[in-house]
Amino acid sequence: MKTSQVDVLVIGGGPAGLAAAIELKKSGVNTVRVLERERVAGGVPRHSFHPGYGLRDFKQFLSGPKYAKKYVDGALSAGVVVSTLSTATHFGEKNSVQVTSPAGLETISARAIILATGARERARAARAVPGKRPAGIYTTGSLQQATYLEDLAIGSRAVIVGAEHVSFSAVMTLKHAGVKTVAMLTEKKKHETVGIVRFALGLWYRFKLMTKTEIVEVLGDKRVTGVRIRRSGVESVIACDTIVFTGNWIPDNELVRRGGFAIDSTYKSPVVSADAQIPGTSIYAIGNLVLPIKAADKCAVDARAIAKKVAASLR
Ligand SMILES: Cc1cc2nc3c(=O)[nH]c(=O)nc-3n(C[C@H](O)[C@H](O)[C@H](O)COP(=O)(O)OP(=O)(O)OC[C@H]3O[C@@H](n4cnc5c(N)ncnc54)[C@H](O)[C@@H]3O)c2cc1C
Repeated sequence: MKTSQVDVLVIGGGPAGLAAAIELKKSGVNTVRVLERERVAGGVPRHSFHPGYGLRDFKQFLSGPKYAKKYVDGALSAGVVVSTLSTATHFGEKNSVQVTSPAGLETISARAIILATGARERARAARAVPGKRPAGIYTTGSLQQATYLEDLAIGSRAVIVGAEHVSFSAVMTLKHAGVKTVAMLTEKKKHETVGIVRFALGLWYRFKLMTKTEIVEVLGDKRVTGVRIRRSGVESVIACDTIVFTGNWIPDNELVRRGGFAIDSTYKSPVVSADAQIPGTSIYAIGNLVLPIKAADKCAVDARAIAKKVAASLR
């Protein structure tokens, strides 16, 4: 097995990980390597094509892919080594991490390790929604990947479950994919986005927002044919061929759990100090891995501040 050594190893090449890596290099850290399991670094914004990124960090209003590219380009020109298709699978001994990539297995030792593995939306299985397992079920993230990165045919009529910021992002992606959003459901009394966003997108895309409504069953055998819903105790069916489960975030905490580190019981994030450090280690956690979900630029700005502290601790 190959072994290597760096000053700081960053796991996760999204906005938080890349912003931290750039800051570490600027602060004089010699060797900084970012591991990213996808083919291309950049994290979620890479497949989130609508504008809405970059106000706090670049003072610009950018689309997701442009924003992601700025971070990838910035990291490469700062001298960060970005290893894609490289998944950190386990912690090893003495501050090391085991990595799998097309080149094989590698153990990387580092003076400090920064975890920036992000968060994901809970998929249908994790929400325990009854029904069969027909095609046509997505989260916003998987919908965006299928639409923008893989150009797949999605469907024609969609129901969105959840009414957070990201749910409205799903409406825009569905429109791009030629799918009509027929309804957005939330069990809450009210949507959870900014009023103007709900108003403008509701008017523009003309979908029905149904509050205090729960999904009780996915209908369909091979392909989704509808959803059974319950509202004020009354059940009814909405015909659709696509369902998008949105929001309801869970940190990508597998690595932390495998490392045996404490996990916060509410947010399921690693337990960290005010300096983002896992107590008693040289391991830090940043970005949406910690208390999701925050905007990308907030993750990046906070990550830079932590990176400065990590650099200082190495000095
Ligand atoms: C649909 C959608 C729309 C959004 N719209 C906006 C918006 O308009 N404006 C905004 O500011 N924010 C938006 N956000 C939020 C924003 O995308 C996130 O806040 C931001 O991406 C978080 O950055 P991060 O680096 O913490 O995590 P991520 O972007 O999730 O990056 C984490 C990276 O870690 C990698 N990774 C995970 N585990 C491993 C491992 N074991 N080994 C190697 N690599 C690993 C992943 O592949 C991923 O690339 C949106 C999010 C979604 C889902």
